[in-house]
Amino acid sequence: MMANEVRMIVKWCGKEYEICNITENDTVSTLKDIVHKETGVRPERQKLLNLRFKGKAAQDEDTIGKLSIKPGFKLMLMGSREEDIAEASQAPDNVPDVVNDLDIAEEEVIIEKAEVYLAKINRRIQDYQVIELNPLREGMKLLVLDIDYTLFDHKSLAESGHLLMRPYLHEFLTMAYKDYDIVIWSATSMKWINEKMRMLGVSSHPNYKIAFHLDSLAMITVHTPKYSVVDVKPLGVIWGKYKQFSAKNTIMFDDIRRNFLMNPQSGLRIRPYKQAHFNRDKDRELLKLAKYLKLIAKVDDFQTLNHRKWEEYVSKKKRSERRTEGDEQKL
Ligand SMILES: [Mg+2]
Repeated sequence: MMANEVRMIVKWCGKEYEICNITENDTVSTLKDIVHKETGVRPERQKLLNLRFKGKAAQDEDTIGKLSIKPGFKLMLMGSREEDIAEASQAPDNVPDVVNDLDIAEEEVIIEKAEVYLAKINRRIQDYQVIELNPLREGMKLLVLDIDYTLFDHKSLAESGHLLMRPYLHEFLTMAYKDYDIVIWSATSMKWINEKMRMLGVSSHPNYKIAFHLDSLAMITVHTPKYSVVDVKPLGVIWGKYKQFSAKNTIMFDDIRRNFLMNPQSGLRIRPYKQAHFNRDKDRELLKLAKYLKLIAKVDDFQTLNHRKWEEYVSKKKRSERRTEGDEQKL
């Protein structure tokens, strides 16, 4: 009898590849060879994120039949082609990061108040299902974090996701968790978000807990003369569902300022983390931001802050602390 054919789609670097010439009797190793042919990523470099057997990553010798793959299954692949690794290892291109970050001013205020968008937000408040991963805590402020280029360099190539994680990620989250409930919001699908957070060790970390994840379905589309049509992350969706949070106690980090279009004052535009290979040893952004979060945790109303000047805020506090220490020594 002929073995059953298994059809699946491999998702890699934003593209999809159909895999059809594989059967239930083939092994994961064979699958990797086919994926190699389709994508150019060598088997030993392939990390098949959601290919699991009994809760663990499937092994090369496992047969496809026992992995209970559903029709239309999308296999998420991480891994790099040799030629891309070689290219990425060469000097970085010093193109300044200006994409999508034109300054916004009056326009954003008008958009923030537009009825049509408030109506869209209301629809999200009603329809979007939040799955709480951990209970929210009383008296906490709220920190909303983007993933790609904020916590993770999703475009660089590396053998393991850990090499693309922004330095000090866990230290940052551990510190922030003391004063903030933490929400992850990424413009991708929930499947990817869950997968990435698991891979980075965020979902299982003992020192902090993420309250919940939001995906692209919680976003809304906005029309603006400057950006034309864009999807943005309106904090109003969270504020509508969780009344303890508002512009007074919420801060959001994202490397793309237009994501704040519906709540510009609450957004802090973080420097994107790119070219992990070169910046892994240099990037201290999350450590500095952890300090900022700690400092402003004492502020009653975040609307009195200007997050564009967050670095000045941190260094001013540092200077005044040093002065105080000096005074104490004199005494
Ligand atoms: Mg991003």
